[in-house]
Amino acid sequence: MRLGLDVGGTKTDAVAVDEEDRIVARVRVRTGWGREAVVATILDAIAALRAEGSFGHDAVASVGVGIPGLVDAEGGRVLHAVNLGVQELDLAAAVREVLDVPFAVENDVKAAALGAAALHGDPPSMAYLNLGTGVAAGVVVDGALWRGARGTAGEVGHISVDPRGRLCGCGQRGCVETFCGGGAVAKAWGRPGDLPVLDVFDAADAGDPAAVALRDDIAYGAASAVRILVLSADVETVVLGGGLTALGERLQSVVTRRLREEAEASAFLRSLRLDERIELLPAGSPAAALGAALVGAAHERFGTEKGAGSHG
Ligand SMILES: [Zn+2]
Repeated sequence: MRLGLDVGGTKTDAVAVDEEDRIVARVRVRTGWGREAVVATILDAIAALRAEGSFGHDAVASVGVGIPGLVDAEGGRVLHAVNLGVQELDLAAAVREVLDVPFAVENDVKAAALGAAALHGDPPSMAYLNLGTGVAAGVVVDGALWRGARGTAGEVGHISVDPRGRLCGCGQRGCVETFCGGGAVAKAWGRPGDLPVLDVFDAADAGDPAAVALRDDIAYGAASAVRILVLSADVETVVLGGGLTALGERLQSVVTRRLREEAEASAFLRSLRLDERIELLPAGSPAAALGAALVGAAHERFGTEKGAGSHG
C-alpha cells in the first residue's frame, strides 16, 4: 500500500494506492495549524486510511506528502509553508517515528501535476496549472516531473505579463498571479465576503463594471499562463485545477473565450490551438493525494538509504 496525503490549508485529502495504482481507500481530515498540529494531522490521516482500508502498518510500503510551500523533496523536509504556520519541519523524521517506511514530501502543485498526469494515463507531456490563492504549474514529461536546474520550472505565476500592472508579493509588477491569483483578486475586489472570486463572477454577470474588469483580468492571467506553458514546454494538455476551478464551466468559458480572441489576432497563436488544449480537473478529483502517493512510491524504488543518509 502506498499512502499519499495532500495537506491543504483547511483539509487534508489522503489515499491508499495498491500495487496496480488503484485507489483502495480515501479519507479527508481537517488540517491543524502549526508544526505539531500538521504532524498530528498526517498521523491521524494515516490511521484513518488504515481503518478505512483495513490494513496494518506492515502493509504500508511508502508515504508521500504534498504540502503548499517550499520543500526539500530529497531530505523530506518542509522549509516554508506559510499557510500552515510551519517555518521548518523535518517531516520525514516525525513520520518515521511512527511508521518506518520510505517517505517523501513534495510541493502540492507538483504532486498534483503528477497525479493529474497519472489519471490521464501519463501522456507524453502535460501541465497542471493551479489557480488557487497563488498561481503555479507543474510540468510532467513522460510521467516524470520537470523540475529544472533549481526546481523553479513551472513557476508561471511570477512571469510578468504587464510591466505597469499591480504590484506582486514577489516584488515585480503585473505577474500572472496578480491577474488570476485568488489572493490578488480578493484584494483588488476589496469587498467583504467569504468567496470573493465567486462574488466577482456573480457581480460581473449582473453587469458591475469593476467585477467585469476583474473577471477579464482572471481570463487574461489564466490564458497567459496557458500560452506560456505551451510556448515553453509545448505540452499537449493544460489541466486547470485549484480553488478557482470550483467555478467550473463559468471559469473555463471565460478563459477559452480569451484564448480564442488572442488567436483571432494572431495566425501563429491560432496554429497552436490553445483553446483546445485546456481541461478542468473535475471537482473532488484525488489528483493531488494520488500524486503524493506516487512521489512516495518513487522513493520506495530508490530504497531507504537516501532518506536515512540525510538524517545521519
Ligand atoms: Zn510575482
